[in-house]
Amino acid sequence: MNPESIPVGRPDVLVVGGGIGGLSSAYALAHQGLRVRVLERAKEFGEVGAGLQIAPNCTRILAEYGLLEEARTLGVVPENMVMRDALDSRELTRLDLHDLERHYGHPYMVIHRSDLHGIFLRACRRAGVELLTDRTVVDYEHTDGGALIRLEDGSTEEAPLVVAADGLHSVARRKLVGDDVVSSDYVAYRAAVPIEQVRDNGIAEKDVTVHVGPRCHFVQYALRGGDMFNQVAVFESPKALAGRDDWGTPDELDATFERTCDTVRKGIPLMWRDRWWQMLDRDPIETWVHGRIALLGDAAHPPLQYMAQGAIMAIEDGWVLARHYARLAEAAPGGTRPDWDAALTAYEAVRVEHCRRVQTTARAWGELWHLDGDPRHRRNAIMRARDTYDYSFTDWVYGPTALTPDEEPEMFTPIPLSSAVVEDSEGEPLTVTGNGTP
Ligand SMILES: Cc1cc2nc3c(=O)[nH]c(=O)nc-3n(C[C@H](O)[C@H](O)[C@H](O)COP(=O)(O)OP(=O)(O)OC[C@H]3O[C@@H](n4cnc5c(N)ncnc54)[C@H](O)[C@@H]3O)c2cc1C
Repeated sequence: MNPESIPVGRPDVLVVGGGIGGLSSAYALAHQGLRVRVLERAKEFGEVGAGLQIAPNCTRILAEYGLLEEARTLGVVPENMVMRDALDSRELTRLDLHDLERHYGHPYMVIHRSDLHGIFLRACRRAGVELLTDRTVVDYEHTDGGALIRLEDGSTEEAPLVVAADGLHSVARRKLVGDDVVSSDYVAYRAAVPIEQVRDNGIAEKDVTVHVGPRCHFVQYALRGGDMFNQVAVFESPKALAGRDDWGTPDELDATFERTCDTVRKGIPLMWRDRWWQMLDRDPIETWVHGRIALLGDAAHPPLQYMAQGAIMAIEDGWVLARHYARLAEAAPGGTRPDWDAALTAYEAVRVEHCRRVQTTARAWGELWHLDGDPRHRRNAIMRARDTYDYSFTDWVYGPTALTPDEEPEMFTPIPLSSAVVEDSEGEPLTVTGNGTP
């Protein structure tokens, strides 16, 4: 019998949204012996888009779930992550990803997002999660001892816990928080093409390369065992700045990248031109849990994607929630269910602050990438002075996911641009002072 049709009676947990956040948290909770039902509005489970970078704070969790080997088979473990200036192509800094794996104990990988989604979908099926499509949730209510969701067709469902993993434009967030998305005026174009189409473009097949440029950047890496090549082009839209609604169009893509180096320019004609993603996030919020309704993933903390941590944070959320449930279940007197409220309080206590850090750093990271003129040269000088094997800027995010606030690592100390003195318009560093001392 197809597990998707197994009737399991009233679920312990309802998960709204079958994206990476919804499915990974459904899997984590089902793994604790809970009856979990996922309601997804699309007609089929799936993911739109191309590649995802998954750092050690994600692969550590995949390893614990027993899913890392499947991810390795479907994805790629690149050799380096290299940052270059998008105009002159000069290398600014790099992470040696083999050494990084040794440092963190788990790999930095890239994987097609539909492959990672598929891994969680299959894991959910094996764990007996009830997976329902074509279910659009339009409202949420609190009940005695739980929460209720109302579907578009007028039906309702109830459970002791509702996890709202319904993404950036979350209905639950609109109802419970009521804030607006924030537009960055930047837009992303994506493409995943057969590797043969890019071999003559001067690409580094074994690396993740990020070219950072004035008001734009370009990311490249191989996918699916090296058979495909993923590219992401991101830029600030002049039409958005002018207040127009039709912003981020392909003519703006072409115009923005005209000044960039050969490797980047050669990649631009390959970008998908029938769809683009306006870069939106939300301001961090303090409260994700309302009664027995918990926001999770992009519904709780949608970031700008510059840290490549959005999907990872969603996976971490489910892992943390399930771990706290397990801890309380172990301590609960025989035959009784643990208190969801305590698990939800513990979840919120640690995840809100971590995700606030990622969201705000992603905004700052984007500003740093997109500098022009003198600040661009100062940034380049600081980045070039960084030691490849200095992990002080990544430990706070790639290290083990904290379960409690006291486990959350210290943030890195930013190096002020003013500490870099550049010699001339070529950007040759004369000195980098303070933290950036070469
Ligand atoms: C260009 C780009 C590159 C990125 N790169 C990375 C990266 O390298 N690494 C990384 O970790 N992250 C990356 N991200 C971020 C990542 O894609 C998101 O943070 C992540 O997919 C969020 O997952 P989610 O499950 O919370 O939300 P979503 O993926 O948005 O899933 C929400 C699900 O809920 C369903 N849904 C919505 N409303 C309803 C409703 N009312 N009823 C029922 N179902 C509903 C939707 O159909 C969808 O399936 C990137 C994002 C972008 C835009």
